Amino acid sequence: MNSPIDPTLWTCSAYEVARLDALHRLELLDTPPSEAFDRITRMAAQLFNLPIAAVSLTDSDRQWFKSKVGVEHDAIPRMRAPCATVADTAGVLVVPDLLEDEHFRDSGLAEGGIRFYAGAPLNTSEGYCLGAMCVLGTEPRQVTAAESQALQDLATMVMAQIELQHALGRIDPVSGLPNRNQFIGDFTDIELAGQAGDMRLAALVSLASPQELSDAQRVMGAGCLDDMVRDAMPQLRLAGAGKIYHVGTTQFAFFAPPGISLETFCSQLQSWLDVRASHGRARFLTTTTVGIAPFTIGQTEGLDLLRNMHSAAHDGLAAERCVRVFSSEHDAILQRRFWLVNAFGAALAGRDQLHLVYQPKVMLKDGACASVEALLRWTHPEIGAISPGEFIPVIEGTSLARATTEWVLTAAMRQMAAWRHDGVALQVAVNVSAVNLEEPDFCDRVMQLLRRHGLPPSSLAIELTESALMRNPKVAQATLERLARAGVQLAIDDFGTGYSSLSYLQSLPANVVKIDQSFMRNLAHDERRRALVGTMIKLSHDLGHKVVAEGVETVEVEDFLRAAGCDEVQGYLHARPLAPNALAEWLAGRAG
Ligand code: C2E
Ligand code: MG
Ligand code: MG
Repeated sequence: MNSPIDPTLWTCSAYEVARLDALHRLELLDTPPSEAFDRITRMAAQLFNLPIAAVSLTDSDRQWFKSKVGVEHDAIPRMRAPCATVADTAGVLVVPDLLEDEHFRDSGLAEGGIRFYAGAPLNTSEGYCLGAMCVLGTEPRQVTAAESQALQDLATMVMAQIELQHALGRIDPVSGLPNRNQFIGDFTDIELAGQAGDMRLAALVSLASPQELSDAQRVMGAGCLDDMVRDAMPQLRLAGAGKIYHVGTTQFAFFAPPGISLETFCSQLQSWLDVRASHGRARFLTTTTVGIAPFTIGQTEGLDLLRNMHSAAHDGLAAERCVRVFSSEHDAILQRRFWLVNAFGAALAGRDQLHLVYQPKVMLKDGACASVEALLRWTHPEIGAISPGEFIPVIEGTSLARATTEWVLTAAMRQMAAWRHDGVALQVAVNVSAVNLEEPDFCDRVMQLLRRHGLPPSSLAIELTESALMRNPKVAQATLERLARAGVQLAIDDFGTGYSSLSYLQSLPANVVKIDQSFMRNLAHDERRRALVGTMIKLSHDLGHKVVAEGVETVEVEDFLRAAGCDEVQGYLHARPLAPNALAEWLAGRAG
């Protein structure tokens, strides 16, 4: 029998720290019983013709039984347990009579009537002993060489079962490569082994864009993705020098060797990509991209690293040469966009984050104000005011666009109805997104809202930017024609900033053209710009549209616009966008 290690040394041994780490990483402790292990334990009891057998794992302070026959407890203290000695010595331990054994006499087992113990080590392939496959009896007993061998064979079977179960969650069944879980596990090892603050690199290879994957599946079925993976395997082994991880359906990751520079790593992967682009079956159908993400030991989470690589590989789709290095600035933009969508969804559902302000449009011929533009304002409870210039373009690309316009239309009409009740008949213009025009029931909903608020269609104007109109011109035109026939006014917003064709604009049922505020800057001193604005006004008039100039801040600009025949102006010169009360005061002030 090997002499047991002094238990007080358990906690200080480096081997013990690594052994416990190996045990904990298997995530076996405190898991429910499993027939795969119980079968082996029963065999052990039968083989020795003994009442008690167990698969006993040695944790820091306890022996925990993964499987047991004839034992009631789930665990016993580690101190003086024979299985703990097996774990410490990684060798077979036989105690023919516990009462006769100096060390185990007081282990507590003998008090419970146990006299015999035999345990074989549960050794991992890395050389750590996790505990013991043990048998116990109530009579003193000897062990033959054949029995000892059988016990060791059973311990090996237990270990095969443990390692198989562990591998199942860590190996991809299609490629046979370690999967994302293994990547995260190995990342933790790199972190533990590295120096805090050291820079390392990792790369992700994406075999095809999301669109290409979807197209391929539609045409050939889901099995084609597995073929794509198998087809790419030989080449993938050339991309990553070490272990390659299968981290997504058609995505693979690997760590760069320590010490390699970003430049070298990039150019190696670029060369790999160039070779791949000129060979391979899938080269005409798919776009392979590579995303590289640097990480600093001690400062990055494994999942964040994967996300960063993924994001860089996705950006690779837009880059000509398809290898991209993760940019934290770009990531910050994406994160902010993601946050905005979530937070704006909550704002729409809540009661007090959104409100409308109204900016007057002033007629140049007599200074009267008959219409205002409704502009959305968002005050986030923690962040404060967020500009529509930032959140509207983000929202327009999401399914929230419909609810947003619905919210604005409803709020604007409620306000209009209140003004009308007070004897003020203002026309209100609402900004509408391109996607709204593609909603088949958009026109019906607008008309329904007008009726519900008792408003004539001519009291509502809809502003659409040139670029919104050009997104899907045919659909836009059909919706706009329906609205125009019903009597709703239409304005082309930010005119002069898009690339719309004149013949298309001419065919639209628009009543108003709003010249973009960028043309008003420097107007007083820029001869060419004045000529341009003059031409825009004339052209719009020739096409039968009323002209409004946006962003008018000075008297000089207004004087020029009046001389050029512009109909109305909107801008800080007359008023900033105002809350309803402030607008009422502003109107009253002018009347007085
Ligand atoms: P827009 O429709 O062209 O609105 C005019 C923008 O110019 C407003 O910015 C307004 O505050 C600003 N402005 C007005 N006069 C002046 C001036 O004299 N000088 C300067 N520098 N700026 C002036 P705001 O409110 O920040 O809105 C920005 C854009 O966001 C709007 O441009 C519009 O495209 C969009 N937006 C605002 N509210 C809504 C909405 O309810 N729905 C949709 N879909 N878009 C909206
Ligand atoms: Mg507008
Ligand atoms: Mg505008």
